[in-house]
Amino acid sequence: MSDLFSQVNFDDHEQVIFVTDAGADLRGIIAIHNTVLGPAAGGCRMQPYEGVDDALNDVLRLSRGMTLKNAVAGLPLGGGKCVIIADPDAPNKKAQLQAMARHVQRLGGRYWTAIDVGVSSEDADVMAEECDYIFARASEYPDGFNPSHFTAIGGFNGIRAVAKYLRGSDDLRGLRVAVQGVGATGAEMTSRLVKHGAVVTIADVNERAVAQIVDRHSVFAVDPNHIHAQDVDVFAPCALGAVLNDTTIPELKARAVCGLANNQLARPDHGQQLFDRNIAYVPDFVVNAGGMMGASTLIFSRPDREKALDNIEGIFTTVIKILERSRDEGKPSAVIAEEMALSRIRSSV
Ligand code: NAD
Repeated sequence: MSDLFSQVNFDDHEQVIFVTDAGADLRGIIAIHNTVLGPAAGGCRMQPYEGVDDALNDVLRLSRGMTLKNAVAGLPLGGGKCVIIADPDAPNKKAQLQAMARHVQRLGGRYWTAIDVGVSSEDADVMAEECDYIFARASEYPDGFNPSHFTAIGGFNGIRAVAKYLRGSDDLRGLRVAVQGVGATGAEMTSRLVKHGAVVTIADVNERAVAQIVDRHSVFAVDPNHIHAQDVDVFAPCALGAVLNDTTIPELKARAVCGLANNQLARPDHGQQLFDRNIAYVPDFVVNAGGMMGASTLIFSRPDREKALDNIEGIFTTVIKILERSRDEGKPSAVIAEEMALSRIRSSV
């Protein structure tokens, strides 16, 4: 146990709960990192982890990340996350989601959960049958709108801010962007970029996802192994974590990195490596907060699309502020963003 408390990712988590439900064959972990700013909020991830250690590391890292994301986003929310150790394609998924939801219900609103990898907005509705503290449900937006759209709009605003930072104007015409992953968020962000005149190159390991975009928009598609090394202004990772690493950073030709994938830096010191190469890096937890900003309005009142879109517009200003501070103070942008989050938390204690 003493090892766990001293782990980097543990970082003074307020509460970590191991949950089971024999009837549903549930094994999961709920991590509540910090509730100073408000109830902890963060999605539920369902994944067949290699082992409990793997799941624990993931949930602690993600939950701490939610504290930073919610604080920089200016939301009255703390950070938390939960994971279910299981294959999301297994037939007993519904029972497992509902069993996890009952555990979340027992926390009485100290922690709110939602979607993440392996858990969709439709799954959030399934969880809501057993729990009052579920947001980002498909039924909140009967016209098919879902939180990924909010995230994509935030990404678009982030890239506008990068354009302003690099070129002095947020006019996207001619800005060259390489998008890695055109799933729920990457595809929507690509559509918006193309509509505003950006020149977009895409890659995805899923050929169908590529074909859908190529059919609709004038974009270039390249081999997924080379998307990070394109000669572009902005590299936008919208697929996997840890894509900024010892191999990829030396190969980057972009002047900036701004994408929606979580945990893009393989290690914290990769932020310094980007800074040393004079590449403006927009910390992922800053630019991908649109989904939280959009979906979390339900926690306080009711789904409010207009208010959410107003908040998401603010990502533009926050990104510019972080990049300018990073340049002026000579520190990596991820360090600046983390300082901003921690200072907001400290001033609320
Ligand atoms: P998604 O699963 O809908 O799309 C991801 C896409 O990336 C898929 O099309 C997949 O085929 C592709 N991909 C996987 N490996 C790839 C590779 N090596 N090269 C190129 N493409 C690859 O996921 P999403 O909802 O779009 O989320 C993307 C990222 O953004 C994830 O890291 C997620 O955690 C993060 N994120 C999403 C949201 C949201 O609202 N959906 C919010 C915050 C953060």
